[in-house]
Amino acid sequence: MKAYDVIVVGGGPGGLAAACSAAKAGALVAIMEVQDHLGGNAILSTGHLVLIDTPVQRRNGITDSVELFMHDAGRQFAREKAKGGLIWDRELTLRFAKESRATYDEITELGIEIARIDSKPSQHTADRLHTLKDPTAVGRAYGERLKELGVDIFLRAEVDDLITSDRRVSGLTASQIMPDGSVKQFALAASQGVILATGGYQGNFELRRRHQPEEAINEHIVGVNTCRGAGHVLGASVGGDLINMGYMQPMVLVPTRLVQDAVAVNRAGARFHDETGPYAGRVESLAQQPEQTAYYIVDGETLERSADFVSRMPEKAIIRDTLAELGAAIGCEVDHLQASIRDWNAFLAGADPKDPATGRVLLPVGRRRITKPPFAALRMVRGTSITWGGLVTTLDMQVVTVQGRVVPGLFAVGDTVGGLNVLAGMGGLHISPAITLGRVAGNAAAKGSKAKPHIAAPSQSGTFAPTKPLKLVLFDLVEQAQS
Ligand SMILES: Cc1cc2nc3c(=O)[nH]c(=O)nc-3n(C[C@H](O)[C@H](O)[C@H](O)COP(=O)(O)OP(=O)(O)OC[C@H]3O[C@@H](n4cnc5c(N)ncnc54)[C@H](O)[C@@H]3O)c2cc1C
Repeated sequence: MKAYDVIVVGGGPGGLAAACSAAKAGALVAIMEVQDHLGGNAILSTGHLVLIDTPVQRRNGITDSVELFMHDAGRQFAREKAKGGLIWDRELTLRFAKESRATYDEITELGIEIARIDSKPSQHTADRLHTLKDPTAVGRAYGERLKELGVDIFLRAEVDDLITSDRRVSGLTASQIMPDGSVKQFALAASQGVILATGGYQGNFELRRRHQPEEAINEHIVGVNTCRGAGHVLGASVGGDLINMGYMQPMVLVPTRLVQDAVAVNRAGARFHDETGPYAGRVESLAQQPEQTAYYIVDGETLERSADFVSRMPEKAIIRDTLAELGAAIGCEVDHLQASIRDWNAFLAGADPKDPATGRVLLPVGRRRITKPPFAALRMVRGTSITWGGLVTTLDMQVVTVQGRVVPGLFAVGDTVGGLNVLAGMGGLHISPAITLGRVAGNAAAKGSKAKPHIAAPSQSGTFAPTKPLKLVLFDLVEQAQS
């Protein structure tokens, strides 16, 4: 069996950063990715990263601090906890906040460019959404660095099980599609750790049916469809504790980079909301439209340039040569539809960044008018593309069991972890924590970790009162006997 020090499962931002830091710390590292390329969901994303107190913020006269971010995070959790049953890992959030500045250094050193800082959604007190110029650069830049560092990259390789010895995770089994199309099954040893970075479980409808409210289970996702909860299931198979599994945010399913070039109209042909606003607002607005029906409208130029994103929409595009024909095809008032598109194009022709009709703030790249035939309507469909629940970890990202003990040799990062994602509604809080805490995990796996399980705050009964991790009665009895 081939042996490594550290093996990372999943090639999204969390796994890439983990593999990179483990290799930099001197470990012999392998990374396994079921797709034929690296980057995970990050390469389809808007590329919004919360980074705190960075040189770009300072250059733009923005004052920010870890304390201010933690204040905003506390406010966000206070809003979310009304949903009940949520657990927020405040200590892990603080660790992310303190280390996010080093993430800025890491990605800029890798050549991943930050284009601008976007205006804050109301959840953030300071402007801190750093927007990547090209999110696909995440996969490319880390991939190149991993090669330089001598990391073995296994593509089209799916990890299916963990190997344990002496109660320690000591390796894994995987299947890989070979260049000739055959499937090879093999095992690898990991002397210091396996890092689970398989993203969420959005692509696994069996798991979603078990954990999510019925109205959330729409069998469509926008994003990579290989995130099927492998890390959640593998972590749980060796005792890992899963939290916040029922928590998800309903969204209107649309790739963010497509919506930038679209407007949405209802059956009356009228625009009705800020198409790029907070996810919750989009879902509420759609629900208020007649027959809860509305469509994104794009033109031929967007259809051509964003063909990949259009193909990821839950329903097939309805395409017609003129706006009048399109309006008739989707059963909306044609005159009003034409007027809505005319008004939008007239607004884009000016210099104002804020749409007076909906309050939508345009990104510098988002001034494309809807003029070139053919025209397309893409139905707005509610669903969810990212899940929020996952494994409990220490501050070094070691997986913790239901009994509150670490699983030796097992780490988890990114959307496979559950304690930080209750803040996801703030925006920009997936990729950045995945990279930041991925780096922490890689380092800890390579060098050894002494972090102990800590206490997260539950939201039950509306208090922040800390609770002990769940323990077996037997351990309590032993502790009592010893004290
Ligand atoms: C349209 C869209 C827009 C988004 N915009 C933003 C944004 O602006 N800001 C933000 O912070 N977040 C955004 N996100 C979310 C963000 O992209 C993800 O939350 C983030 O990429 C999670 O990182 P990760 O490393 O945990 O996992 P992922 O990026 O999901 O990657 C996990 C990887 O693991 C692989 N994998 C899964 N199972 C196995 C297995 N058994 N063996 C081997 N490999 C496996 C998958 O193929 C995948 O490549 C967006 C997501 C989408 C879909």
